[in-house]
Amino acid sequence: MSHHPITKVIRTQVPRTDEMEHSSPLFLTSSFCYDDAEEMRATFADENDNNIYTRFSNPNVQEFTDRMVALEGTEAGFATASGMSAIFASFMTFLKSGDHLISCRAIFGSTHTVITKYLAKYGIEYTYVEASEVESWEAAVKPNTKMFFLETPTNPALEVIDLEAAGKFTRKHKILLNVDNCFATPIAQRPIDYGADIIVHSATKWLDGQGRVLGGVVLGRKELIHEVYLFCRSTGPSMSPFNAWVLSRSLETLEVRMERHASNALKLAKALEGHEKISSVRYPFLHSHPQHGIATRQMTNGGGIVCFELKGGLEAGRNFLDALQMLTLTANLGDTRSIASHPASTTHAKLTHEEREKVGITPGLIRISVGLENISDILNDILQAIDKS
Ligand SMILES: *Cc1c(COP(=O)(O)O)cnc(C)c1O
Repeated sequence: MSHHPITKVIRTQVPRTDEMEHSSPLFLTSSFCYDDAEEMRATFADENDNNIYTRFSNPNVQEFTDRMVALEGTEAGFATASGMSAIFASFMTFLKSGDHLISCRAIFGSTHTVITKYLAKYGIEYTYVEASEVESWEAAVKPNTKMFFLETPTNPALEVIDLEAAGKFTRKHKILLNVDNCFATPIAQRPIDYGADIIVHSATKWLDGQGRVLGGVVLGRKELIHEVYLFCRSTGPSMSPFNAWVLSRSLETLEVRMERHASNALKLAKALEGHEKISSVRYPFLHSHPQHGIATRQMTNGGGIVCFELKGGLEAGRNFLDALQMLTLTANLGDTRSIASHPASTTHAKLTHEEREKVGITPGLIRISVGLENISDILNDILQAIDKS
């Protein structure tokens, strides 16, 4: 009997041990044993699926990976210690010196550092393109282009990139489409349905959803993920079994959490639209969003992030953060607790003013990661802080 992906996520589990436990046990072990020399030889020769060493595989990590595979609808996956190690592994596995990468300009800050500072060191060139200008992607293609990397919705400006167009573009040029699906989560959008070859995640955000552990995962076709596995088993960015155990439990509630995050976010976005101290509100499922049509076509909800622009600019942004009473000031996002951040003075402070403008980070931009508290409490705290901004 074939189950719905959500059912599979909840029911996919480490095989029950002789203790007959109901919930998955934690396999905190760095290595695994063999009954005899022959079994050990066969395991090392890859003739069976036995575990060897937790840098290569571990039952808890496999459980988390299998659950992510069910969610994203891919053939295989490899879990990593963080989102950044997943992204780095996806680059290092498929790109080599002399290759060219096309990436959307609006990407996570550390991904930007990897592309511009570290890939360059290995002779891997890149071109940034504008997410919403599909025509500009064509002009970036070179004979040595190997991969197109994007995030949608983007952080923090919440631009939505047309995944169908991205799939068509990469198939036409026979290059790999690599999508960071962290912001939308597979509950809202499945890049595989549009032809993505590789999907990467920071499990640290919505997948955990409670701000406890770091994690990441690379997903895709079997033959591609096997290459990622070979790279990671030798270089060592493996996920801790403890983190995998925590994250597996989190995935069981991902769908219900994301539905509430998204409905709270939509209510917040609608309530803030038209406020006299705000010049704009951005949320993919608001009719005023420039890519509202694309968003509603490829996403089943608008996600849990809402951004708005305070008319008072940088100073108002700082005042707003200081006036908050309940929302937390912290670098994370995708938590049960609502979080506020001011990218221009924090996460994106190292960029020049021009670089910030190019990715939509204006001085008064506030990013809210909408939590699971009652929406009226979230709204009241934000409204009173806007009054004092
Ligand atoms: C946080 C984040 C990452 C990096 O993940 P870590 O788990 O912090 O390494 C990558 N991409 C996006 C979109 C993120 O929000």
